Amino acid sequence: MTSRPPTDHRTDAHDGLPPMPNASSGAASNAQGWPVFEPGWVWLAGAGPGDPGLITLHTLNALKQADVIVYDALIDPRILDWANPDASIEYAGKRGGKPSPKQRDITLRLIELTQQNKRVLRLKGGDPFVFGRGGEEAQVLIQAGVPIRIIPGISAGIGGLAYAGIPVTHRDVNQAVTFLTGHDRTGAAPTALNWKGIAEGSQVIVMYMAIKHLPEICANLIEAGRNPSEPVAVVSNATWSKMDVLETTLANAPHDVMDQGIEPPAIICVGDVVLMRQCLDWMGQMNGIAPRDLDPLKRGDNKDSA
Ligand code: SAH
Repeated sequence: MTSRPPTDHRTDAHDGLPPMPNASSGAASNAQGWPVFEPGWVWLAGAGPGDPGLITLHTLNALKQADVIVYDALIDPRILDWANPDASIEYAGKRGGKPSPKQRDITLRLIELTQQNKRVLRLKGGDPFVFGRGGEEAQVLIQAGVPIRIIPGISAGIGGLAYAGIPVTHRDVNQAVTFLTGHDRTGAAPTALNWKGIAEGSQVIVMYMAIKHLPEICANLIEAGRNPSEPVAVVSNATWSKMDVLETTLANAPHDVMDQGIEPPAIICVGDVVLMRQCLDWMGQMNGIAPRDLDPLKRGDNKDSA
């Protein structure tokens, strides 16, 4: 019987990945052109909004090479099945109502792991730089002299809405989008926001973490001039199998959310792009629900499209 040398999964990290058409310059890459995860590095990667298929190939490449994966809440555990089987997996999110680990403790842990010469994958929901504290973590790592790579991800405020059949921009509706968070770092409704500026400046508003302070937020927007009957969608657990979409209005949203017991995580979209769901609810259509309206914006036959 011949014995095979033990496999180092990390040198096989390209397994299941197509060759990279243009090898990234600067950092080490393998024969297929994929970045090589070197010991002592932290890669901060987005895992997308939920559906495992929405991670990027760079995140998959990272999963296959990491020694330690430090992951957040809102990450589908099936994504971790793609990790190197020898990787250790650490949870750094909030669970079962227990307080989440302090941001500082998480970053110190990442630094500690790099001092043990580990390849550390910090996996965050959505995009790490969109309301995900990724910027803070990356800054502390760089201040500590730890080399990093950032792997963007699909943010819930874009990809989650797409799963609900809501395009975040549409030429007939908006030339701008505002992304906002429903609470500041103290947990209170954000006080630094200029509601009038937001209400007047952007036809579409996409809100993260806004369930808790929704009554105050909707009242602020209406007071700042937004139409109380403006369409609103509340997309909870977007891209997960338990995804739920509530269609309502700015005036009714707080009551309807309470009434239906909608819980975070949810993305809330304010604006006429929500109407497009009447035509574009592709997931509903996969389940046999016919489009409610083929021309929700009443634009006609689209013939001047350039
Ligand atoms: N970095 C993440 C956002 C983290 S903040 C991103 O880019 O998507 C956490 C908030 O994101 C949640 O409170 C919720 O508002 C939103 N969110 C994340 N995943 C979601 C999902 N699957 N469905 C709906 N909202 C989601």
